[in-house]
Amino acid sequence: MTDLDRYIRQTTFPALGKEGQKKLLASKVLLVGCGALGSASAVSMVRSGIGHLIIVDQDIPELVNLHRQFLYDEENMKERIPKAIVAADKLAKMNSQVKIEPVVAELRSENIEKIAQGVNLVIDGTDNLQTRYLINDFCVKNNVPWIYGGVIGAFGMMMVIIPGKTACLRCLFPEPPAPGSLPSCETEGVLNPAPLLIAALEVMEAIKILIGSDKVKTGLTNIDLWEHTFSTVETKRNPHCPACGQNKYEFLDRKKTDWSTSLCGRNAVQLSPAEPVQLDLQSLKQRLEKIGKVSFNGYLLEADLEGLKIIIFPDGRAIISGTTDETKARSFYNRYLGR
Ligand SMILES: [Zn+2]
Repeated sequence: MTDLDRYIRQTTFPALGKEGQKKLLASKVLLVGCGALGSASAVSMVRSGIGHLIIVDQDIPELVNLHRQFLYDEENMKERIPKAIVAADKLAKMNSQVKIEPVVAELRSENIEKIAQGVNLVIDGTDNLQTRYLINDFCVKNNVPWIYGGVIGAFGMMMVIIPGKTACLRCLFPEPPAPGSLPSCETEGVLNPAPLLIAALEVMEAIKILIGSDKVKTGLTNIDLWEHTFSTVETKRNPHCPACGQNKYEFLDRKKTDWSTSLCGRNAVQLSPAEPVQLDLQSLKQRLEKIGKVSFNGYLLEADLEGLKIIIFPDGRAIISGTTDETKARSFYNRYLGR
């Protein structure tokens, strides 16, 4: 069998063909976030033979997210292995021809240029707008297409962004909305057919973009699966757009600061230090063991302290569960990590 034989049931589709398949195999795609949308799109892309997939995710599998994050199971949840690692292991078994590169990190202005270097396309599987504005800046500046996807309740949205050709995210929404002003999957819930469908649409457009098809669907697609309604609104480039109109990339150029984010679907806050550090988790474990229950699995350290649970990653990032109060979480973090 040649490399192409396994794809015969899709290369028989005339618009793809063997030539298209070769282009897919030669493509490099960055998937940002491997939750509900990311799980579904990763499986689809890997099985389709998109040759090189980088998966960036900062989180670990959680029980309340298993209903929609299809790559993870109850065992993974107990092991507390980061999602990017679990995803890469499982995906590698689905298609050994695909190079899968897991990155356990938060995508930030300081690391996006390095992580996304040389990619042909970026797929949005995130759950937060800050990261999407960062992706938009990077992609517009570097002329890389990206596909926005978002889901809430039984509703989903999708939009292809081709820099220089289509509207970008900031053409439509010049500034991100204030934190907390939008509904979240915590307040609205989410039913898993919505991310499955949006992921399917994202991957279909990804395939078309990667093989150079002229059938790429532009505009903002809105789907309400509960009401069974489907519409695409045409979008126009805005000449005053800060990103694609004026080449101002403030999310990419933003100064390093501490970040804290409430995590969607979890009673938790994530904190990231301004400068990533290299923590010695083994010695931190020994220190914290004197005051609470601590475990370390080689990837992350987990401790129960003062009724809160803290998960600490080697780069200094921490997820503090049991609160959504960012100030409280920050003082807790500073107390134990001395920052
Ligand atoms: Zn724009």
